[in-house]
Amino acid sequence: VIEIRSLNKSFGDFQVLTNVDLNVSLGERIVICGPSGSGKSTLIRCVNGLEQYDSGGITVDGISLSAPGGVDRVRAEVGMVFQQFNLFPHLTVIENLTLGPMKARGLSRKDADALAMEYLERVKIPEQAQKRPRDLSGGQQQRVAIARSLCMAPKIMLFDEPTSALDPEMISEVLDVMVELARDGMTMLVVTHEMGFARKVADRMVFMDGGEIVETGTPAEVFEAPKTQRFKSFLDKIL
Ligand code: ATP
Ligand code: MG
Repeated sequence: VIEIRSLNKSFGDFQVLTNVDLNVSLGERIVICGPSGSGKSTLIRCVNGLEQYDSGGITVDGISLSAPGGVDRVRAEVGMVFQQFNLFPHLTVIENLTLGPMKARGLSRKDADALAMEYLERVKIPEQAQKRPRDLSGGQQQRVAIARSLCMAPKIMLFDEPTSALDPEMISEVLDVMVELARDGMTMLVVTHEMGFARKVADRMVFMDGGEIVETGTPAEVFEAPKTQRFKSFLDKIL
């Protein structure tokens, strides 16, 4: 459902992605890891058009990002959750969730409220609906961000280090929600160094270094015996 072909991208003289090829099937869960600066964020930001690429191509659900209107059509199918939750601070939780469905999907307030509450139940914080983001813990805010994305009925979810801004005790409550999402069959592309999560849900791991995909494999394969020295020394450092 995602096809990335020979993707290249530079920031000025600095080549941040080099010949990246990656195909993701519907329902597949991919975990991307790699050292800081290896291009992980840039790669997934390219998938929903937040970054432009210099050459190569990306199609999402058959839609080319470079086609006229491609970015808008792709964004309608792709949800994204960031390290910093990016909620609207002046809106309540439920207003954060209903804004998109009312504006972009044309739902009535009543239907949007019902949808929002359904997803707040799913991320286990329905009681926080009337609060503002600043009155929630980091873990709760991130679950609101996930629920907000899901309210737009995405086919694919992108996550960029969704737990790395959280205090340790809040990480698992966010990962639990993501594990459930995976069990429900969502196609997910997740940048994370949470290897317990990767082991549990990843169909495939992708290791990036220096703007390239250096190695891919199932969690069983890569945790058992990484093929490259670069991946091995990375795993030695973080495990
Ligand atoms: P991290 O683990 O720290 O999040 P990452 O793998 O996500 O790293 P990217 O954020 O994709 O890495 O960045 C890859 C490289 O591109 C880095 O060297 C970064 O400094 C550079 N870079 C990213 N965005 C820009 C930009 N807008 N302008 C110039 N350089 C950039
Ligand atoms: Mg990053």
